[in-house]
Amino acid sequence: MNSSQLQSLQHHNEMLAQFVIRLSKFFEGYSADIDSELLNLRGHLAGHPNFTLASVSMGKLNTLFQSDIKNVRRYNASGVALVEQSVRSLQQRYQHDANFQAQAASVLTLAGHHIGSMPSLLKVCLNGLSLVKQLPKHQPGPTDTVSTTPLSAEVTQSLQKELHQLLESYRQLQPDNPQLSELRHRLLVGLDDDDLLQACLGILRLIVKDSMGEAAMSGEVIQSLHEALGSLTQDVEKSIEQTQHTFTSRMQHDAIVKEQLHQIEDVVATDNSLEELKAQAQQCLDQMASTLAEREQREQDDKQCVMTLLSQMQGQLAALESQVQGYRKQLSQQHDAMNTDVLTGLPNRQAYNEKILTAQKQACPDKNPLCLAVLDIDHFKNVNDRFGHAAGDKILQIVAQKLQSALESNAFIARWGGEEFVLLFENTPITELQQKLEQLRTRLMDLPFTFRQERLSITASFGGAMFNTAEAPEQFFERADKKLYEAKRSGRNCVVIDEDGHL
Ligand code: GH3
Ligand code: MG
Ligand code: MG
Repeated sequence: MNSSQLQSLQHHNEMLAQFVIRLSKFFEGYSADIDSELLNLRGHLAGHPNFTLASVSMGKLNTLFQSDIKNVRRYNASGVALVEQSVRSLQQRYQHDANFQAQAASVLTLAGHHIGSMPSLLKVCLNGLSLVKQLPKHQPGPTDTVSTTPLSAEVTQSLQKELHQLLESYRQLQPDNPQLSELRHRLLVGLDDDDLLQACLGILRLIVKDSMGEAAMSGEVIQSLHEALGSLTQDVEKSIEQTQHTFTSRMQHDAIVKEQLHQIEDVVATDNSLEELKAQAQQCLDQMASTLAEREQREQDDKQCVMTLLSQMQGQLAALESQVQGYRKQLSQQHDAMNTDVLTGLPNRQAYNEKILTAQKQACPDKNPLCLAVLDIDHFKNVNDRFGHAAGDKILQIVAQKLQSALESNAFIARWGGEEFVLLFENTPITELQQKLEQLRTRLMDLPFTFRQERLSITASFGGAMFNTAEAPEQFFERADKKLYEAKRSGRNCVVIDEDGHL
């Protein structure tokens, strides 16, 4: 080998060494073992390459590649499958977004053509990720289920309150319905979110079923009134027809009688003998008598017919009236039941809503000031927990009774729901409200409750306000309710009045 050949061989060796070094850097990152062996290899090839040591390294690397190739294939396959699976589920979720669907389809095509190499896997993954980055704003798809985020305590509490209220007004109509009693019991004991939502659904179903029944019943009543009115109209028409008929037949008879009178005149005007005249006159008079008798008979018949029709109509009217009265009574019973709280017998929230509308119309800050108070029994949950719901119910009944009997005639009380009551004082200035509520508070506190030989003192907190003509009933209530919470915060068993809100 001459020197130029030797030089060229050295040059090729260096190129080869550089190439292997770069290649080894490119493949870095598979595993720690391979990386450390690649580092060795680069060491052997850098500077003056030592091909003997390099070939030892290459041998080790070959073994490492052999054992790792299976893992690489596995990662490749499962990586592509994972991307495909994720893209498909996103496609389902955003099926109404055409742009997104097109991009997702192109990622799936790329994944289908994946040739098993790391770079092509990388490309599929990158495309998948960029698809995720461009996701449209959330649109619930068919696979979306109800959010599993728990309800906030505030929502749960207000749902429980509303449901309780609905149940109470519903129990008015169906006090013996075991489903409602069961639901009420469960609600008092406490429901978790799922049960609460189920209970809401249950009561909604009942209401829908019932209102459909009610609508059907009203439909029947209206139908029967309609039929009764229809037959009454027919009878009225018949009696009008009959009267017209009587009138025309009377006219006809009058015409006949007139004709017969003319005939008598004609007979009298002839020169006949007296005997003939007498006979002819008699004949005419006989005819007239029979016409008149016939007319009388007909009139009698017509009169009888009209009388029968009239008495029929009278009967129908009486039936109609009693039907309407029955319906009215039923409606008023229903209205009373809907406005009464089944447990305490007090007017309920619905009744309050009706009452506040009229009271507010009549209210006038100077001449007829209107005050409102909200009362909430303190720590009532503890009472239930210690003595049971039946004892709690009994207390609510007694408290309601006592409150009502302590009120003057210009005051109105309703059970707002749960252990809360709302009071309206007509013609009561705010200066008197404090004192009236204080009286109620001490009366309640002094009630002698004893359970399981244990003396129990029931106290309540009060919030009060005077009506301001510029506000809606809800705002009025809200002001008093805020004061109730202030009363609770300042230690309970006290009265807090909104002194400024009415100005
Ligand atoms: P606070 O002093 O803050 O008002 O405390 P509280 O325990 O009275 O208030 P909370 O709102 O925590 O609980 C009210 C309780 O009243 C919970 C509920 O079980 C009970 N309750 C509501 N309605 C009825 C009912 O009709 N009968 C019975 N027995 N208990 C009821
Ligand atoms: Mg309460
Ligand atoms: Mg309370």
